[in-house]
Amino acid sequence: MDVREYDNWIDGGWAGADRKVERKSPAHGRLLARFAQSDEQAVRAAVGAARKAFDTRSVWSSMPGAERAKALGHWVDLMTRDLERLALIEAEEVGKPIRFARAEIEWSIELARYAAALAWQLPGDLVSNIGDANLGLVTREPRGVIAMITPWNFPMVTLFQKLPFALAAGCTVVVKPSELTSGSTLEIAKLATEAGIPNGVINVVTGSGRTVGEILTGHRDVDMISFTGSTAVGIRIAQRAAEQVKRVGLELGGKAANIVFADADIDAALDGILLGYILNQGEECVQGTRLLVEDSVAESFLEKLVERSKKIRLGLPTDEDADVGALIHEKHMEQVLSYIESGLEEGATLLLGGNRVTENGLGMGYYVAPTIFSNVTPDMTIFREEIFGPVLAVTRFKSVEEAIALANDTNYGLGNGLWTKDIDKAIRVSRELRSGTVYVNTFLETAAQMPFGGLKQSGIGRENGLDGLLEFTEVKSTFIKLGKRTHALPHTLTTSARS
Ligand code: NDP
Repeated sequence: MDVREYDNWIDGGWAGADRKVERKSPAHGRLLARFAQSDEQAVRAAVGAARKAFDTRSVWSSMPGAERAKALGHWVDLMTRDLERLALIEAEEVGKPIRFARAEIEWSIELARYAAALAWQLPGDLVSNIGDANLGLVTREPRGVIAMITPWNFPMVTLFQKLPFALAAGCTVVVKPSELTSGSTLEIAKLATEAGIPNGVINVVTGSGRTVGEILTGHRDVDMISFTGSTAVGIRIAQRAAEQVKRVGLELGGKAANIVFADADIDAALDGILLGYILNQGEECVQGTRLLVEDSVAESFLEKLVERSKKIRLGLPTDEDADVGALIHEKHMEQVLSYIESGLEEGATLLLGGNRVTENGLGMGYYVAPTIFSNVTPDMTIFREEIFGPVLAVTRFKSVEEAIALANDTNYGLGNGLWTKDIDKAIRVSRELRSGTVYVNTFLETAAQMPFGGLKQSGIGRENGLDGLLEFTEVKSTFIKLGKRTHALPHTLTTSARS
């Protein structure tokens, strides 16, 4: 692939930038792309374009839903046409294997298809029981200009859990993708214009979070900030939003537990645990990074898990057979290795991996071997903190109560999984798990209709499903008086009383 040169995408066209930032492959080190290092002027231009497109109501925000749905449908067609090119950009910039990048683009397209259908029918209510002479309308209106700040692990999916829903609702948008992985976001913004989505409806400004992100979140013309990323930055964004009483949607970190009971379908559970901890190199907010396994089956379960994990294939982004790719950058790899170090120092037992991988042509990349620790206790760092690498922390339990307590012993609450053939136990445990999503006898399932989001420090709000659309709407109550209005204070306010 040639080196790609990008500017910002503002008001339906490229907007030049003086300074650029380079993205080199985390898998093989070659230069992939140059992105704009935007300044305040660029952010202002992008927000200005989004504001104008929103406020000129006929452009997008008051367009009939069916028309918006049609434009989104054309966009879906173009993304489908360019799927392979988008997948390659995604694979190279993130460092993930191509077949997972392909699946990510396919899934993003599916989300856009679903959101487009929602544009046909924004729900509303008619309130008819407030007296014969009154009628109430409760309507939903687009929230306005939305700033979307997205991370590097799933640049397309994290964006598509927001963007098509906001567009379907009638909002206009300024996106700030991660400066490491901005390529696919810029490409789909260009495709949106080709599809007939009006200028100014989608704008993209690239650059670092500390500069571009801060200017964007502090801009008075931004009505809502929708963010996916670390809890630390999420807190910062919530503080910025509070200063101007802006809405926020926060999709933050996680520390999911996968609970395997002795009566589980062990083969299915092995498969789910494996996928749960290695998918996307473990750079995944719902990663099943904690395995809680019932004591009576733990020994044999772990033996089988280690054997299966040894077959995981690490590879370059274009390797069609690779299961796991490179971590996002060198500093992050060092951070993951330091978590592994802390596991050893704090007394966990290393069953597999624990090292950087440089063999078989991977020496220029940031690869970490799938790693399994057993005898992990809740006070250990690897039990508590989000590692964001292919590291599994295993803890044994003896009772249902202990399993629930261990799973909930975290500041996070995004997702959890459980494996049992006992339906009563499955429902009881899923009710007691404090997370936005629970997977029963499966893991990392997705459906566009199912809302996604977290409790505790995993975030605020929901993406996907009807809830995902409603996040981008404001509720308006309209009181309508039927017939002649009778005055509330006839002696002081009527015309005859005043004259
Ligand atoms: P961040 O939360 O720092 O980055 C996410 C996005 O926020 C990026 O676009 C980033 O810009 C931007 N950003 C950073 N600082 C600000 C700010 N002050 N104002 C506005 N925007 C800002 O995540 P990292 O990339 O640093 O990853 C660190 C850790 O976060 C990971 O190891 C992982 O634990 C967690 N994480 C969780 C994710 C999730 O899906 N829940 C996704 C990614 C990370 P830029 O990077 O371009 O500077």
